[in-house]
Amino acid sequence: MSDVLRRKLALAKCRGPLIMPGDRDYDRARRVWNGVVDRKPAAVLYAENVDDVRKAIDIATSCDAVLAVRAGGHSFPGLSTCDAGLLLDLSQLNSTRLNTGAGTVEAGGGAMLRDLDGATVSKGYVVPAGVISHTGVAGLTLGGGMGRISRAYGLTIDSLIGAEIVTAIGSVTWIDADSDPELFWGIRGGGGNFGVVTRFKFKLRQLGLVSVGQWSYPVASARRAIAVLGELAQQRPREFSVAFTLASMSLGVTAVWIGDSRHAERMLSPFGELAGAGEGTMGAMPFIELQSRNDVHFAWSRRYYAKGGFWRDISGEAVDAMVQQITTAPTPDSELYVTQLGGAVSDVPEDATAYSGRQAGYYWIAEPVWDNPADDERCIAWGRAAAEQMADPSIQANYINEQADTAIASGAYGAVKYDRLRRLKSRLDPTNRFRLNQNIVPLAAAPR
Ligand SMILES: Cc1cc2nc3c(=O)[nH]c(=O)nc-3n(C[C@H](O)[C@H](O)[C@H](O)COP(=O)(O)OP(=O)(O)OC[C@H]3O[C@@H](n4cnc5c(N)ncnc54)[C@H](O)[C@@H]3O)c2cc1C
Repeated sequence: MSDVLRRKLALAKCRGPLIMPGDRDYDRARRVWNGVVDRKPAAVLYAENVDDVRKAIDIATSCDAVLAVRAGGHSFPGLSTCDAGLLLDLSQLNSTRLNTGAGTVEAGGGAMLRDLDGATVSKGYVVPAGVISHTGVAGLTLGGGMGRISRAYGLTIDSLIGAEIVTAIGSVTWIDADSDPELFWGIRGGGGNFGVVTRFKFKLRQLGLVSVGQWSYPVASARRAIAVLGELAQQRPREFSVAFTLASMSLGVTAVWIGDSRHAERMLSPFGELAGAGEGTMGAMPFIELQSRNDVHFAWSRRYYAKGGFWRDISGEAVDAMVQQITTAPTPDSELYVTQLGGAVSDVPEDATAYSGRQAGYYWIAEPVWDNPADDERCIAWGRAAAEQMADPSIQANYINEQADTAIASGAYGAVKYDRLRRLKSRLDPTNRFRLNQNIVPLAAAPR
């Protein structure tokens, strides 16, 4: 089957380069961000245009080959690569087009967050997205997209106006709220289940001066510091947001204010005194710098696992669980991360998009990070155990984008939404061609 696939691809005269096993670049081309994932596709096609994408889908279908679609390659479980099938890489489709007159920006299906910020921020605009600049716009947006300014401007999908999508039958369609409301609903949280998105169009938001406070506290003060942080954060307007990371050596707090800069000190400085004085500073910071500050910490090819969930609030039980779990962290870089939501995210009704969990006040993840393959089992076990302790059993929804375990879709969306998503999937992709994602199983198909 692999030989037939490769022959058809070679004959298809795609514009983008085709890399096969044995080629000098093959080992680089098959890599994804998470070093735990080590798969060997039969071929890697770097699409250079929409026609390449269409051909890749057609050929994978005609060979009944597994098709993996990669933008930023950040999928924790490695859903953007495969063994034996075709890896369709979109990184060449990374152009952006800013239209300040219309108040929009377009980004190709393979653009990174740094491309999107690069097009907008220097002009005083932004699209709310994630916190690491080498994340793909596509995977992040299709799952929802949360970050430091979500409380002010909502999730990334709340700025999405429309998208160009290549479906399982190879048709190229522009979808928005008018042309196909149900599919537009589905791609705002439903992941890559419905087709390959080759272009996104977003509404621009204004971004003025950004003020940031960053402090660290000893682990011994973490319980008190997190409790005070929770009380302070809930009194703050939506132009404020806070995230914190508990690791075995320290508690790190990052507070961001994008409102009137005259109030920045009042909004931020209390987070530098959560349990005595924290070590750190506050002040104005270029947004681009903030967005890339942690890029190196989350470098490609290290080994990662993540399991997360929503909290309504920061409860005493949650803080106890964090403080207890971090004492058994398997490596110094392993962490428990929490980011504040609410605000504009919660303004959107729960059933308005496929994304689930609008009413949550926080999103958290347990994230072991390590380098030695011999530590895989131990580190993953810690991530799972910590997450189990941190979970709030009262919240039924979850975020599909930051989970290293698969087959979680029905629980993450809940029964009603999952059923609606399955009906949509059955219309768009009845044979489940796009199954390397947090898969929504079409109604007639059995899981493969
Ligand atoms: C270091 C790191 C930081 C992160 N930070 C944040 C954050 O701040 N906020 C947040 O919300 N999330 C965050 N995430 C989670 C992130 O949103 C998901 O991992 C997301 O899937 C990454 O998208 P990608 O394009 O980089 O990944 P990929 O691995 O390329 O793709 C992920 C999934 O999307 C599919 N896909 C990719 N491109 C397309 C396309 N064009 N059309 C259709 N399907 C496609 C893939 O097939 C795969 O199923 C982070 C993840 C990492 C690893």
